[in-house]
Amino acid sequence: MCGVSPARGLGGRWQGRFGVEWLGADLVLLRADSSRWPSPGNVLVVLDRDGAALVDCGFGTENGMEALEAGLRSVGRSLAAVHTVLCTHPHTDHAGAAASLAAGRRVLVPAGARAILDDPALVAEAILPPVVREFAPWLADLDIDSHFQDECGAVALPPDHAVEEVRPGAVIRLGGYAWTAVPTPGHDAHLMCYWEQRTGMLVYSDLLVTRGTAIPWYAPGGGGTGAYRESLRRVAALEPRLGISGHGGLLEGPHAVAISIEATERQIAARTERITAALARGPATFAELERCVYPPAVHDVIPWASSVTAVHVTEALESGAAKAGDGVFVATGGLG
Ligand SMILES: [Zn+2]
Repeated sequence: MCGVSPARGLGGRWQGRFGVEWLGADLVLLRADSSRWPSPGNVLVVLDRDGAALVDCGFGTENGMEALEAGLRSVGRSLAAVHTVLCTHPHTDHAGAAASLAAGRRVLVPAGARAILDDPALVAEAILPPVVREFAPWLADLDIDSHFQDECGAVALPPDHAVEEVRPGAVIRLGGYAWTAVPTPGHDAHLMCYWEQRTGMLVYSDLLVTRGTAIPWYAPGGGGTGAYRESLRRVAALEPRLGISGHGGLLEGPHAVAISIEATERQIAARTERITAALARGPATFAELERCVYPPAVHDVIPWASSVTAVHVTEALESGAAKAGDGVFVATGGLG
């Protein structure tokens, strides 16, 4: 949900393809040719004797499905050969195709995410919760539900499909790999990273800072900055040797993964610091505080960038560091 390009706005459609990056004889990353919004997340393909298993599946749009088919064909498989779809989280750039793929296949989603994927309106609400629209009334009429349905092909999962919910710590065997589910709330309340202990691979999806995107991105309801930072510590403790991103390229080697984890943590902390400093200078509107988080051009492309500011403002209010009044936020030290 977080790719950024000042050149394209809401209403653009991904017409791209997946590039193919072999990670092993039986493991391929189908990498979207762009991380600009709207573009699908990467798809990890595990090849086995029965066909193929996917970790995330990209957009369910016509082009999204064609691109997935083309990507699979270039590695000797097809959509028909896919028997399993494992999702990292219910954002529709990663799981948009799940509904189209569900029939006749094993579909696994993080525990608690089923209800969201059953109802595309809930996906939109998780991205831009009502509290953000209260802070940013200029977003009140933004129909992001329709936007995600159009751009990501987000449709409800078939109601009678037996989707499996992945619990924290569950081990999912796909081909020659055993993926342990590591809960990593923050970006989304249900974000699950998948850790392959034998090889040191971590599918980190949208957890870590990714060039050309707004990540780290988060919204009220996703767990807050505290949960996000705890998630970072959780994956750091695994000491991954290969980081497999939801957008963009790979993090090769333990050093690259560690640097990315640190950079993500630093960016979140820096946002808090900038907002705290802005409030210390005097009363500030929500729009002014937004400039502490992203440049305005980001909001033109992904208006749900405001959700990140809303997390920081909510935390400042809840901690008592700031108070709201008369259309502005004020540091509590400056009230008297
Ligand atoms: Zn996401």
